Amino acid sequence: MFSFSFLCLLAICGCTFAYIEIPQDYLDAIIQDKADESSAGEYNYDEQGDDWTGTCQTGTNQSPIDLIFEDSKVVAIPRLRFYNYDQALQTPLVITNNGHTANMVIPLTRAGQRPSINGSLLPGDFEVQSVHFHWGSPHTKGSEHAINYQRYDVEMHIVHKNRIYDTMGEATLHPDGLAVLGVMFRAVDRVTSQHYGLNKIFNQLPRIVEYNSNATITGTLTVGQLLGNIVTGEFFTYNGSLTTPDCAEAVTWTVFPDVLDYPRRQIAKLWNLRDSRRMPLVDNYRSIQDTNGRDVYYRVLQ
Ligand SMILES: [Zn+2]
Repeated sequence: MFSFSFLCLLAICGCTFAYIEIPQDYLDAIIQDKADESSAGEYNYDEQGDDWTGTCQTGTNQSPIDLIFEDSKVVAIPRLRFYNYDQALQTPLVITNNGHTANMVIPLTRAGQRPSINGSLLPGDFEVQSVHFHWGSPHTKGSEHAINYQRYDVEMHIVHKNRIYDTMGEATLHPDGLAVLGVMFRAVDRVTSQHYGLNKIFNQLPRIVEYNSNATITGTLTVGQLLGNIVTGEFFTYNGSLTTPDCAEAVTWTVFPDVLDYPRRQIAKLWNLRDSRRMPLVDNYRSIQDTNGRDVYYRVLQ
């Protein structure tokens, strides 16, 4: 078992004063995630990333891209396999406003397992690391990828690391380092399903309006609940990059064309967050990148 210690989230960023019991290994993962995020240096979405430098500018396998069914290779692809996606995670979970998004580092399951994926065209087994979101504003759509030229209100990214690499930093140095699942949200006024898992995250957003603030989530949450009821048997997959600096070309992308309908009143909570300049954190999506002749594959439901 892991050792528990009473630690203040002050240790992470100096802004939350409540003492909350967090397992040491989860706290270490959160601190490491924050260090990785800081190592990219300062950046913002004022020009949707067009002013970012380095690989962001010179790379030829960048993300996001427009995913066009007609231009993709519809081939037989093994199904994506999910492991421990239905297992309750250790709590409390910590969600953070890091100035660029609302981010949650994902801990082990209560049984001490790390949820993971393989199958599809994935080059190995990929362990879940974190989840975050990209969004627009009350009058703009903020998904990163477009599907058949259409963008959506929100895009959720579930980030996974290849099991063969020890750290996220090491994984980003390799083309087979990371696997990210992209899920589109559509803001709707009336919902047909409840999305209890997502609600647990979104209900905490009013507590992380300010840059560097954290909130905790208790109760039962599984990674699978984040996917709602979308169809995971059909998807686009291609080789691309992180969509934030340093834009490392280390990502096998899987983007589902099935869209998750989610209440507009919940999505509106994202539009209220603020960045490190205390300006509204809105439109935190990168502009569409050139495919440069890359193959995009499409798996159809069999
Ligand atoms: Zn992202």
